Amino acid sequence: MKKIFAAFLAAAMLASLGGCSSSSSTIDQIKKEGKLVMATNAAFPPFEYIEGNEPVGVDVDIAAEIAKDLGVTLEVSDMDFNAIIPAVQAGKASLGAAGMTVTDERKQQIDFSDEYVKSAQYVIVMKGSGVTVDSLSEAGIVIGVQEGTTGDFYATDEIKGDPNTEEVARYKNAIVASQDLMNGKCSAVIIDEMPAKSIVEANADTLELLPDVLTEESYAIAVKKGDAAFLEQVNKTIARLKSEGKIDEFLIKHTGE
Ligand code: GLN
Repeated sequence: MKKIFAAFLAAAMLASLGGCSSSSSTIDQIKKEGKLVMATNAAFPPFEYIEGNEPVGVDVDIAAEIAKDLGVTLEVSDMDFNAIIPAVQAGKASLGAAGMTVTDERKQQIDFSDEYVKSAQYVIVMKGSGVTVDSLSEAGIVIGVQEGTTGDFYATDEIKGDPNTEEVARYKNAIVASQDLMNGKCSAVIIDEMPAKSIVEANADTLELLPDVLTEESYAIAVKKGDAAFLEQVNKTIARLKSEGKIDEFLIKHTGE
């Protein structure tokens, strides 16, 4: 009997917590402030990068459409990739749009929208260095990654197979990681497909992209957990953009193809 009562009490507490979060919903906050705040890490072309002084990219265009559908303006808040989920959880940002891969661990912390782009991890090496995917697990081979990303997890857990490895060098973004690759401080950089291609293209004399596809991933937008109305709104805009062919259009616009 006591157990049943405890379970009932726990359920009631959860229900009241749910009620609490919906009373300070993201949509209310966005409308009150007249702006939608997008948390991102603007060093991930073509999804987010700096042009002039402005953050631009596919994710910025998508978030601008979500803002437009809500009748507000978009504000982009640039931060470390690792800071995005905490910013969304704390309500400091309305959403996180950062070429963010859907993972089960992240699903514990935030809710994901519908997926809008497929991706994969790729390896960048120095041209003519002979470094291959198979050689990445060898002792002495340092892999550069962006801290806290799926590339970091793959290099650490799958390639090196050691959570305490010192042979994974963690950087704030793939651009600085690639600079260290060119300076000889690491042997390879693992990063998402499109940023990898864009970095190699920008340094075509020095860098080379390996053909191997390490993972299968999908990007989605992160929103605060349990805010069903806002999640539905975000998904509505994504569905509209997909049906209008806009996401492909944004990709073409920002890759210059
Ligand atoms: N897709 C990768 C991840 O979610 C990298 C994202 C990024 O660096 N912006 O971990």
